[in-house]
Amino acid sequence: MGLQPIHNFNLRALNTFGLDVRAEKYLKVTTENELEAAMALVALAESPLLILGGGSNLLFTADVSGWVLHIAIEGIELVSTDSDSVLLEVGAGVAWHDFVRYTVERGWSGLENLALIPGTVGASPIQNIGAYGAEISQVLESVTVFDRQTNAYRTFQTDGCDFGYRTSIFKQAWKGRAIITHVRFRLSSRPRLNLSYGTVKQELAAHFPEPWTPANVADTVEAIRRSKLPDPAVLGNAGSFFKNPVVTVEDFMRLVEACPTIPNYPQSDGSVKVPAAWLIEQCGWKGKRVGNVGCHATQPLVLVNYGGATGAELMAHARAVQQSVWERFHVRLEPEVNLYPS
Ligand code: FAD
Ligand code: NAP
Repeated sequence: MGLQPIHNFNLRALNTFGLDVRAEKYLKVTTENELEAAMALVALAESPLLILGGGSNLLFTADVSGWVLHIAIEGIELVSTDSDSVLLEVGAGVAWHDFVRYTVERGWSGLENLALIPGTVGASPIQNIGAYGAEISQVLESVTVFDRQTNAYRTFQTDGCDFGYRTSIFKQAWKGRAIITHVRFRLSSRPRLNLSYGTVKQELAAHFPEPWTPANVADTVEAIRRSKLPDPAVLGNAGSFFKNPVVTVEDFMRLVEACPTIPNYPQSDGSVKVPAAWLIEQCGWKGKRVGNVGCHATQPLVLVNYGGATGAELMAHARAVQQSVWERFHVRLEPEVNLYPS
């Protein structure tokens, strides 16, 4: 018997908001052969398709009509080594944090700042995941995808991925067209640490003697994250709900005149990044609960499900937050989380 979809499948365990939503048809694929067979079935049915990794950057606003294709291709392969780097090819279904631990335990450097980000390797290029001054575009070599338009595999080199702040070609022009099957990363085989984030360096110095290793940095990042971010296994959430807005220098001058203490991070192109969490906190949302949902007490940019929430409640909360930030600061917050259906 070939690959068979499961009908009316409950996605609760496959979205970190913990929403009780159902997929009309659900298929899990663990190899490229299974993926090709699944795509033949989907093409025959001509219904919509959602590609799913770990569900940690998704908000289901309703049940899913059509297919959910869960990508669970495993494997970490050492492709080559040279005097100071290693090239690794990783299956899209590998858990991101397991991969980070695999690399730091071998002393390889490049992913240590990105420890404890939930989700899969396959989703990591979608929004060019980043944290603590690092993002994967700095170490990514290529992305292999199954192209739904041509039914053939295609490889994107880094400079073809249009990486930007929490975005890529896969979140824009190729959204829904590219099914990522493998990602290649080139990591340094010697420690090349990025300690640009003050908190990481301070905590590292407080807990580890020098010389510091990539594993020391990963442990430090994990401790900082555990102290500040809610664990989705305990309190449903999808990380930062909105992107940090990057505003023009003119807009920033207007903001700073009204609020001289506004935190800000000037960008290389002259624009200025402003923490969304600060804007949200100023509007009184930090730790505020409305029914089953709210803004988290230590990181208000994280919207949480206290239990029993629906996607519609979370969306209503997100809109109320957006509205008050707009009224107070005239800054538009854009969701970072993918809405489905949008
Ligand atoms: P999913 O949520 O399953 O999917 C996300 C999007 O990618 C969807 O549009 C989906 O269709 C698409 N997609 C998934 N897999 C594939 C594939 N194989 N091929 C094509 N499309 C695919 N993000 C950061 O950048 N930095 C952080 O520090 C960070 N911290 C977080 C902390 C918490 C507590 C949580 C809950 C989330 C955090 N996130 C962070 C967001 C999230 O973890 C990442 O965006 C992650 O890469 C999503 O992976 P996923 O497998 O769960 O993707
Ligand atoms: P934080 O450290 O309190 O920082 C808040 C904001 O200030 C972010 O916009 C961050 O930019 C910026 N910032 C802080 N220090 C900076 C520096 N030295 N240089 C440049 N920008 C700086 O944020 P946090 O919530 O505790 O998260 C820590 C890190 O994890 C951040 O990088 C954040 O992006 C990441 N994170 C992401 C998610 C997600 O779902 N996307 C969830 C949790 C944490 P950056 O965002 O560009 O770093």
